[in-house]
Amino acid sequence: MKKNINGFPIHPVGIGTWLMGGGMFTDKIPFAVYGGEEKEIEAIRYSLSKGQNHIDTAQMYGMGHTEEIVGNAIQGFDRSKIFLASKIWRTHALRLSVVKQVAEMLKRLQTTYLDLLYMHAPWPEVDLEQCIQGINDAVDRGLVRAVGVSNFNLEQVEQAIAASKYPIAALQNHYSLTYRSEFSPELRALCRTHTITFVAYKPLERKKLTDNPLPLITKLAKKYQKTPAQVILNWVISQEGVVAIPKASWKKHIDENLGALTFEIEEKDKEVLDNLSSL
Ligand code: NAP
Repeated sequence: MKKNINGFPIHPVGIGTWLMGGGMFTDKIPFAVYGGEEKEIEAIRYSLSKGQNHIDTAQMYGMGHTEEIVGNAIQGFDRSKIFLASKIWRTHALRLSVVKQVAEMLKRLQTTYLDLLYMHAPWPEVDLEQCIQGINDAVDRGLVRAVGVSNFNLEQVEQAIAASKYPIAALQNHYSLTYRSEFSPELRALCRTHTITFVAYKPLERKKLTDNPLPLITKLAKKYQKTPAQVILNWVISQEGVVAIPKASWKKHIDENLGALTFEIEEKDKEVLDNLSSL
């Protein structure tokens, strides 16, 4: 299960940070929450101490407060062993804004570079090529080491590849046992051709898959003496070129998710899971 992004070895189970220090109103405006950060910082530090080294955050999360939490959490760890990814948000995605915004992100993250910067989404009102070139500018200045895209379909990834003078190192889309439409076989083939690591977000469907597991998952969990979360994550990360970034704020959840690595699902069971139709 060896994984990498841009040649950097990463743990197959990454550290998601959505809802750490903030959230989003129903009209899609993000907000920050101050207070209670200690628990989130402790969770990230616990994950890092267990060998997880891929942190996924975003400028938009908590309106920047999540990046502050991550910045606090990584203090005292060897920065060179951490793969730190963030995402540029719509409001700052113009070419001339990106470098300045990355400088702000780095201050919040208390570091001098990002390992990966994604364009968070292909917003219709934002010029995709310009944003990608803005990320390229940040790479030119040594502020960012690799270019990524998120919530992109096949055509949009192709556009990003064409617009970028650097390789597109990662594609981050929603992907889980029951949600596969954002990682079509064609997109998978494109990722393989261009050595783009696929980063699966919402792999647990925000507890939907663990609170009410499908009978098949309960059965497999029993067979392998694992939990439903472990079966679900194992299925994701055992796929070539694919990593997962579940968010977990409890040590119990972090330990459980790490247990997804310690077993192998038999080929015939994998096939059943592969063929499970989306809900
Ligand atoms: P998720 O990882 O599928 O689910 C997170 C939820 O699952 C949390 O409530 C967490 O609880 C719970 N959980 C974690 N491990 C568990 C376990 N073993 N058993 C039961 N429950 C468990 O959903 P997500 O946070 O939306 O997605 C993961 C990450 O992907 C995000 O944090 C973010 O970094 C990224 N993301 C990116 C985009 C994008 O547009 N690019 C969109 C969504 C998400 P606790 O926290 O209480 O432990």
